[in-house]
Amino acid sequence: MNVLVINCGSSSLKFQLIDSESENVLAKGLCERIGIDGSLTYQPAGGEKVKSEKAMPTHTEAIQFVIDALTDSETGVVKSLSEIGAVGHRVVHGGEKFASSVVINDEVLAGIEACSDLAPLHNPANLIGIRACQKLMPGTPMVAVFDTAFHQTMPEKAYLYGLPYEYYEKYAVRRYGFHGTSHSFVSKHAADFLGLDLNNSKIIVAHLGNGASISAVLNGKCVDTSMGLTPLEGLVMGTRSGDMDPAIMEYIAKKEDLDIAGVMNVLNKKSGVYGLSKNLSSDFRDLEEAMENGNKYAAAALEVFCYRVAKYIGSYVAAMNGVDAIAFTAGIGENAGIVREKVLAYLGYLGITLDAEANKKRGEDFVISTADSKVKVAVIPTNEELAIARETVALV
Ligand code: ADP
Repeated sequence: MNVLVINCGSSSLKFQLIDSESENVLAKGLCERIGIDGSLTYQPAGGEKVKSEKAMPTHTEAIQFVIDALTDSETGVVKSLSEIGAVGHRVVHGGEKFASSVVINDEVLAGIEACSDLAPLHNPANLIGIRACQKLMPGTPMVAVFDTAFHQTMPEKAYLYGLPYEYYEKYAVRRYGFHGTSHSFVSKHAADFLGLDLNNSKIIVAHLGNGASISAVLNGKCVDTSMGLTPLEGLVMGTRSGDMDPAIMEYIAKKEDLDIAGVMNVLNKKSGVYGLSKNLSSDFRDLEEAMENGNKYAAAALEVFCYRVAKYIGSYVAAMNGVDAIAFTAGIGENAGIVREKVLAYLGYLGITLDAEANKKRGEDFVISTADSKVKVAVIPTNEELAIARETVALV
């Protein structure tokens, strides 16, 4: 079956058409600046990437252009819409309502809407994408795959904040976690690749991208993760602060004469390694280069990032009373050998030894710990689109 995977933002839409039998990507692309002017970038497998300007007043036009491109007589990859068996939608927040992926019906739409309060920038955009697809592909089954679902197995002690309990009851204030599709995919794949029995294993997944989070996966189930009510908690990220003393908010607001929205903007967009490097960059390639050229702020940013990752790994070893394997994934986890090396340097007490040669590798799954290392460490590229396609097929 061919599955169309859609990741819809407020003004952009990423898509992939995946053949679920071979798991090959048949075509992929991106619509940008929806509601402003609009452009479509489209690339069939083995073909050239082509970007064209197209008027996209709403997501419905954007999805129509995607369908047109996929079924185009020259560059298309299917003859008609009937060759698309299902659509899998990435949905950011499923609250406590959705602990797994679901086939979309009216009740599910209402449930996603009810979680919009918790993800006001994302869930409404996800809903717009689903409704536009339903309009253009009325007979095609659709599935919602939630970023939060994998973390719903966290125990109460891991998801409650030290806040008045009524806030949890009245406003659903608790830790949810994000990147769940990636943590689920990578933990399963790591167990497979490393020859572990998933149902009898302790795996820590470090999803280190522009947004970054860590999870503790015990016997295949998430027992803790570093992001919280929102994706701001946890690790130091590209531009996000991660954990900090909450009292800093009032202190900075007074000093900089900012309101709460102004402070939130700083914590989300001007902090992390970007802020630490004095606005040099949030991209680790730039930071590495600057550090090699003697930039002390870039060097400090990298150290702060790696130290925080190592501390989280240590705390998850405590949460699971041990660890069998650590998997690095996402843009930084898959590519920045220096980050992996610095993080693992803190973890010698676990009996981890790094294979420095293996750590220079790039590409598909590979092990970076030595044969005698007590904990296996691997680089496992994430593939959220494939994970969404698999979930979709399983449900339809
Ligand atoms: P997101 O999906 O959250 O935008 P990604 O997982 O795509 O993030 O990761 C993007 C980040 O990965 C970049 O900002 C950069 O910091 C890092 N990255 C990508 N390629 C490399 C590389 N070759 N070396 C070091 N870091 C890299």
